[in-house]
Formats: sequence, C-alpha cells, structure tokens
Amino acid sequence: MAALVHNPGSQAERYKHYAFAYADAAGVVWQKPSKSSETGKIKHAVASAFIAEDDTKVIEASTPDTLPRLYEWMHELSHHYLDHINNEKPYHVEEFEATKMAIDTLERDGFHMTPAIRKEAAWNIEQAIGKDRRKGIRIDSEAAEYARELKQ
Ligand SMILES: [Zn+2]
Repeated sequence: MAALVHNPGSQAERYKHYAFAYADAAGVVWQKPSKSSETGKIKHAVASAFIAEDDTKVIEASTPDTLPRLYEWMHELSHHYLDHINNEKPYHVEEFEATKMAIDTLERDGFHMTPAIRKEAAWNIEQAIGKDRRKGIRIDSEAAEYARELKQ
C-alpha cells in the first residue's frame, strides 16, 4: 500500500485517522461487526471483508482506536487491496497474504506490532492452514514459514 500522511493528536485519533485514510484510498466502506464469536468467556467481534450486492467494498471491524484493532482493520482492508474476495486462492494463502501486507504496511509507517498481535496473527494463519489441510489442499510453505516467524 502507498504511504499516507499521519495526523497529529492522541494515539487513538492517530490510529483512526490512519485507518480511515487507507479505507478511503481503497474506496472501502466501514461497518461495525454484525456477528460475534465466543472464545472461552470473551466475546470477539468478527471482522470480515466482503463486497455488498451493490458492489460496494465493505469491511466489518471494530472502531480502530487501539493497535490490535488497527491491525485487524488493516488486515481486512488488505483482503480488498489483494482482491481476495472473488478469487480462487486457498483460504490459508489469503490469510497469509493479508496478514503480511497489514503488518508490513503498519511497521513501515512506524506502528510496531506487539508480540501479542504477532502471536494472534500467527494463530489465525495456522487455523487456516489446519482447515485447508483437512480439506486436502496443498499447504503453501511460505505461509507456514511466515506463521512460524511471527511467533519468534
Ligand atoms: Zn483474513
């Protein structure tokens, strides 16, 4: 993704400004998540990227006012940037590509990912690898290697 200029202000405002600038640049519309899932006792909003019936590119994500939420936002946006919605790539390859684009873009722009964010991102790719492996889909070694690197 091309570099965009930051706005000064509070950290939360800085995250939001950055996130909305990227969504605008990609012509992507934001919605709050309509679904949630429960992991243990914690309810997670389910983030997603999709194309609406009227062809609008949409992401569903929480307000990007913290670094983990900004990462999630950029991950969903990356699915649009990489044109993942209508292609035939295996799920784990799409997850790998979106994760890598989001992290590379954020780190280039000075947002350094915490170990917790990297672990969660690795877990997400590994979940996708597991699902695809069970379907008999050949696993991309670069995706598996990237997930391992994220945990280091
Ligand atoms: Zn994803």
